Amino acid sequence: MHGWGEQAESLLSAIEDYVRDRLRMDPPTLDGPIEPADLAARAGRTITTDGIGEQAALRVFGEVLAPATISTDHPRNLAFIPSAATEASLLFDLVVAASSIYGGSWLEGAGAVHAENEVLAWLAGLSRYPESAGGVVVPGGTQGNLAALVTARQWARHQRAERGLPEPRRWVIATSEESHSSIWHVARVMDVDVLSVEVPAEGAGAGRLTGPLLEAAVRERLPHTDEVFAVAAAGGTTNYGIVDALDSIADVTQRNGWWLHVDGAYGGAGLLCPELWEVFAGIERSDSWIVDPHKWLFAPYDACALIYREPRLARAAHVQHASYLEVLNESPHFNPSDYAVHLSRRARGLPLWFSVAVHGTDAYTAAVRQTMAVTAYAADAVRARPHLALIREPMLSVVVFERVGWEQADYDAWSQGLLAAGTAFVTPTRHRGRTVTRLAIVNPRTTPADIDTVLDSLPACG
Ligand SMILES: *Cc1c(COP(=O)(O)O)cnc(C)c1O
Repeated sequence: MHGWGEQAESLLSAIEDYVRDRLRMDPPTLDGPIEPADLAARAGRTITTDGIGEQAALRVFGEVLAPATISTDHPRNLAFIPSAATEASLLFDLVVAASSIYGGSWLEGAGAVHAENEVLAWLAGLSRYPESAGGVVVPGGTQGNLAALVTARQWARHQRAERGLPEPRRWVIATSEESHSSIWHVARVMDVDVLSVEVPAEGAGAGRLTGPLLEAAVRERLPHTDEVFAVAAAGGTTNYGIVDALDSIADVTQRNGWWLHVDGAYGGAGLLCPELWEVFAGIERSDSWIVDPHKWLFAPYDACALIYREPRLARAAHVQHASYLEVLNESPHFNPSDYAVHLSRRARGLPLWFSVAVHGTDAYTAAVRQTMAVTAYAADAVRARPHLALIREPMLSVVVFERVGWEQADYDAWSQGLLAAGTAFVTPTRHRGRTVTRLAIVNPRTTPADIDTVLDSLPACG
């Protein structure tokens, strides 16, 4: 099982062939799920006492299991937030695996930690954080939000204790009603409350949390404003791609001494385009922010870059103590484990590092810009069709629209039909209680023709 031999040699060439064939597919087949019983029957029993062998296991994966998974990088996969990793990042993921790296500490993973930190510093620079900023790459936005908000509460507790103040009855995170579900989940995990702030449905500020809205909600709805320890602002909502008015929110958080965390899991990649800086103005005043490279930064799952203005505050919240860890904790070096809710970790920032190192940051800006151009095309194409109606002007790369007159069942049938035919993956969503649909455009290979294919599949009225 271990050790390099003939078996490993033949497996390597089989895997090389598989990877080459998969990466050369242009486009890949969309694929999709099948019923559990069908899948079980087709796959057969694979976990056996003697093993089924590499040929058989690889065959089951290639012929049965992989086709039952949607190719996230298909150019007409526009559902949720898809993912389209660069070849460089995908292939380097294989290198990371082959290198058996422990990415939790400097002692064990210095080379990997150095490279991850360089790519994190680049991202921190996009938000104009000071050079002392830093963080860690965690598996996803949910975990990034958790680690940041745990840090925020620890900091609030510490400040309270310093001033001899008691803890509030309940701790509260304030956020827009349009924020990602993970904020509510994190609050449940932390056993804290969420103040969900309503945002305007229509008009220029539609969907955007602002400082005044935040302040009014806290004043009117909380008995004690000091229960708030953090504001989780959206750096691109998942449903619409709306960035909250960060500058005006930062006025309020600074005045009140609240932590400002920006959830840019999807949208943070927009910082690569100077033409979008205005939208993000104020992020430089936040205390932490996240971006998922597996969303709009062309890296494979699973990766969320979590960045703190002052990493030492995160370390105070997250460092683990044990007799066998003191050799790490007493070292002056940077240990990624100390900055989130984890200990052992894969050096999952390396695929992004390698790809950015290979292509340069300008290529990343160009790729994000390309998706923004296709988004503008899609919004125009929706407007040009009388039976479709745009719900909101896209701020980033999500286009939300409706097929006039359709109900939930119509969207469901359309969505399922497109997937079953292998044409596209587009799912319904809800806007103010109504079913609508959306296109999330994060794949630079998605073309205007792909958009037309999807929109043309929506029948005209009559
Ligand atoms: C996707 C997303 C998350 C959650 O990220 P995961 O990587 O799926 O855990 C959080 N916030 C926003 C805004 C997102 O788009």
